[in-house]
Amino acid sequence: MAAGGPNSAPPDITLPLRLAEVAINAITEMVSVLGEDEVYRLVNQAWCRTMELAAHEVVGRRASELFPQSVDGERIRAIRECLTRGQTLTVSGPMLLPHLAGRVFEGTYTPYGRDHAGVPCVVVVTRDISERETQLHRLQNAQAETRRLLDAFPGLIAEFDHRLVYTFANDTFLRVMKQPREAIVGHSVDELVGPERADEVRRLAARALAGEEVVYDRWHGPRCIQITLTGNIDARSGLPRYHGFGIDVSRLKLAERALIAARDEAESANRAKSQFLSHMSHELRTPLNAILGFAQVLKADSTLLPAQRQQTDEILRGARHLHKLINDALDLGSIEAGRLSVELGAVALLPLARDCLRLLEPLALERGVALLPLHASELDASVGADALRLRQVLLNLLGNAIKYNRRDGRVALHAERHGALLRIVVSDSGPGIAPEQLERLFVPFERVHDEPSAVEGTGIGLALSRRLMQAMGGQIGVETEVGVGSRFWIELPLHADTATPEHATGPAPLAARPAAGAARRDVLYIEDNPVNIVLMEAMLMHVPGLAMHSEAMPLAGLERAFALRPALILLDIQLPGLNGFEVLERLRADERTRFIPVVAVSANAMPDDVAAGRAAGFFDYLTKPLELSGLVATVERALTNSWLASAQS
Ligand code: ADP
Repeated sequence: MAAGGPNSAPPDITLPLRLAEVAINAITEMVSVLGEDEVYRLVNQAWCRTMELAAHEVVGRRASELFPQSVDGERIRAIRECLTRGQTLTVSGPMLLPHLAGRVFEGTYTPYGRDHAGVPCVVVVTRDISERETQLHRLQNAQAETRRLLDAFPGLIAEFDHRLVYTFANDTFLRVMKQPREAIVGHSVDELVGPERADEVRRLAARALAGEEVVYDRWHGPRCIQITLTGNIDARSGLPRYHGFGIDVSRLKLAERALIAARDEAESANRAKSQFLSHMSHELRTPLNAILGFAQVLKADSTLLPAQRQQTDEILRGARHLHKLINDALDLGSIEAGRLSVELGAVALLPLARDCLRLLEPLALERGVALLPLHASELDASVGADALRLRQVLLNLLGNAIKYNRRDGRVALHAERHGALLRIVVSDSGPGIAPEQLERLFVPFERVHDEPSAVEGTGIGLALSRRLMQAMGGQIGVETEVGVGSRFWIELPLHADTATPEHATGPAPLAARPAAGAARRDVLYIEDNPVNIVLMEAMLMHVPGLAMHSEAMPLAGLERAFALRPALILLDIQLPGLNGFEVLERLRADERTRFIPVVAVSANAMPDDVAAGRAAGFFDYLTKPLELSGLVATVERALTNSWLASAQS
């Protein structure tokens, strides 16, 4: 027969009750049932274990009777309130029993219904929350500590949510903003700074959220705050939130301003120095031009007596020395004013070395010093350098090697490859240099020779050479032995292109000269300094078949040029009213003078001036003081050009 059938015995109701008891006892939390009368109806095993009482000691007794000292009013009130309201209540706090001292419990009171006698009852589930409370406490402490730290931080910290409402601001932030916390936290950026600035913050916030580094400056009165804005998605809400971190950079800004002011001042001082240099250059060259020029003209005069010729040579020597001094000092000045620019390219060494030796041959002859032949194979390479500046350095080293040598001494130039570098060595059989003197070698105006006056020099050459080498990314040095000689060397990177044609550094080949006996050619010189005009006339006597005309004023010069249509125009740059560049422009703009070669003859000899002159379209740019041979060569070249141009037109 199936159990529970109509004819079976009545079900055993003690079974579900026992099951309920087992279930209740299995719960690890304390469970008790109390009536409105505060009498315990049931306690589970967990309850008994915690309270250290047996169930039979508890059930049927009132709470206040069991725990006369420890039942607090709150728990009794909780039973009443739970029953009258018919709602679950939670009460937490310590249990005032000696063996539970220091522990915190949380009781949940739930209305249960009535017992068999009709008394309303409450089920109380109590759990030990001491651990949780301790954790909470710790968390709160940690939060307070963090807060104190953030407040003590000398930077500004603020947090705002996706609506740009401030959710946090540290004390420093409030101090800088001069606002109490309640005026910031809970308020939006719009409210605080107005919609326009808020829109800007909104744009910045969007960029920060996209991961961009957003840093900007904000002035608050005299303070400049540099703000770094970050944005991220809040893990709990899934919404963006932003943090602004500000540091006071006012002092930095002040220092920066001072630095900028100092830099501007230095730049203007540099400009002033440069202006002074070019002014001095111009002022010195003009009289030097007359001295050097007339001395050359005199020297070419065949009627001169031997003593007069010797005196002229002295004038020339003195003037050339002065010229070199001016050039070197100005170069050094330009370097120190930061105005020296080098144009690096492939420079073929062999032709350059040959050119330098050729130029120094007369000096070597005069001093009785032999220039040893070059080893073409060694020097057959190109280096990365500025051709003009490298030539200047080599001429200085070779010149010194000749000057500081003995009669019948030797000077050699050779090259050694050191990996990607080429070392060019100038060696001599001179007196050498004592080790303690070496330091002074490259110091401007220092001369270390025993009797400096015995050898002409300025003491600038090596200082200038070192700076030039540095500007070209190279090096300069010396190995020397007293009584044996010196080896001055420079080092430059080898250039891959070693196939530069030989004539690259030499003069341009001359075009065919006009046939002898051609008609007299007119040359117009526009120059406001009468001494220079007289000098030019004297110098141009050395080019046969020329008729020189001159004009002191630029407009008159232009009129003369249009009327005369000379074969060549020589043009000063610093003219009253119109400068040489403007005159050149007008000459080029007019049909009558468009193709006439124009050579600038100027005392503006700073490298920038020369570069500007060449760029402007002058046939050549000659600087004062003029060298007779150079002037003659340029004039002849220009006239050939003029002749070719007129032949073609
Ligand atoms: P300068 O030759 O015009 O005096 P430099 O700067 O070229 O100026 O040289 C500085 C000094 O170094 C020279 O005055 C000389 O005393 C010394 N010096 C330069 N080259 C040599 C050399 N090859 N042998 C011995 N002394 C030298």
